[in-house]
Amino acid sequence: MHLRALGYWRSDTNDRLPHPANLVDTTWDGNERALVVDYLDDGRTGRRFMGVSLCRICGAHNGGDEKTDGVYVWPSGLAHYVEHHGVRLPKEFVEHAIRQSEELEASTVDRTWWAEQTAGA
Ligand SMILES: [Zn+2]
Repeated sequence: MHLRALGYWRSDTNDRLPHPANLVDTTWDGNERALVVDYLDDGRTGRRFMGVSLCRICGAHNGGDEKTDGVYVWPSGLAHYVEHHGVRLPKEFVEHAIRQSEELEASTVDRTWWAEQTAGA
């Protein structure tokens, strides 16, 4: 599986990555931002890191896992940057999160499968 990583920050070993403070956008629509926070929180836990990372902006303890939706992968602490500091993520990811959420909301549910699988029990 090929995942696209986001939410990783500049370090001594990788200066091509951004610093989160440079991505803060206080004009970002609050509803869209809240949806993205929920989406990030809802990701499946992937790898667990050894240790906790600290927020690069406020220094708070900020998670030690990676999360994924099967397309993207991000550190679990990314939601904190979006929620508490207004770090704005790329349009392509935001549109992806909105689309996934809308599709889930609009989905139909098969209510017979469970009963068939467990018939007689
Ligand atoms: Zn912070």
